[in-house]
Amino acid sequence: MINTKNLVKVFRTDEVETTALNNVNMEINEGEFVAIMGPSGCGKSTLLNILGLLDNPTSGELYFNKTQVDGYSERQRTNLRKENIGFVFQSFNLIEELTIYENIELPLLYMKVSSSERKKRVNEVLERMKIAHRAKHFPQQLSGGQQQRAAIARAVITNPKLILADEPTGNLDSANGEEVMNLLTQLNETGTTIVMVTHSPSDADRSHRIIQLFDGHIVTENMRQKL
Ligand code: ADP
Ligand code: MG
Repeated sequence: MINTKNLVKVFRTDEVETTALNNVNMEINEGEFVAIMGPSGCGKSTLLNILGLLDNPTSGELYFNKTQVDGYSERQRTNLRKENIGFVFQSFNLIEELTIYENIELPLLYMKVSSSERKKRVNEVLERMKIAHRAKHFPQQLSGGQQQRAAIARAVITNPKLILADEPTGNLDSANGEEVMNLLTQLNETGTTIVMVTHSPSDADRSHRIIQLFDGHIVTENMRQKL
């Protein structure tokens, strides 16, 4: 589903130059659940943002379903992203001025889905994420766990083939973190490919494979033995 070849990302700010990614070669297959681990600042978020077409690599190649996409225009990247990729972030990134219902509905509005279809799909996912009773509330009125479930609802509302999650349990206590991991695991079991950045060994235990990053490059890849 995803392939990278010698992916490099250099950030330049004033005098400082940071090589955030240094020749990353990786492959993510459809249906996989991959965890990315490594110390703070090693390039995990940068890698996820590039895989998700939120950012451009400085050099190297990125393929999505065997199509080279690293040279894509902003509009091409946006279209590919909207049709295929859902994002989940550590800080939830819900829009504070919109209700939970409206937050989840938003991607469908962008995709010009009819109002009856929107209603059906939003209500279905609200139930599935166990936040139907919170539909009319605003993000600040919800617990962290509920906000993250709403963020996952928003990410999956378009039925993306790929979910990119950047420390999805990083701001949650262990019970809420576990619930979020259960939802991600369920999504993977029903066919969604998941790439998740995490610091938590128990979260990484849910994955099929762990990619270890250090100073912007991959140091090890471990297949996990699934029973
Ligand atoms: P991680 O997610 O593993 O903690 P990041 O991918 O956020 O690491 O960052 C990798 C490196 O790139 C760090 O040194 C960070 O300071 C730098 N970096 C990340 N984003 C930017 C940016 N927008 N501008 C400048 N430097 C950045
Ligand atoms: Mg990060």
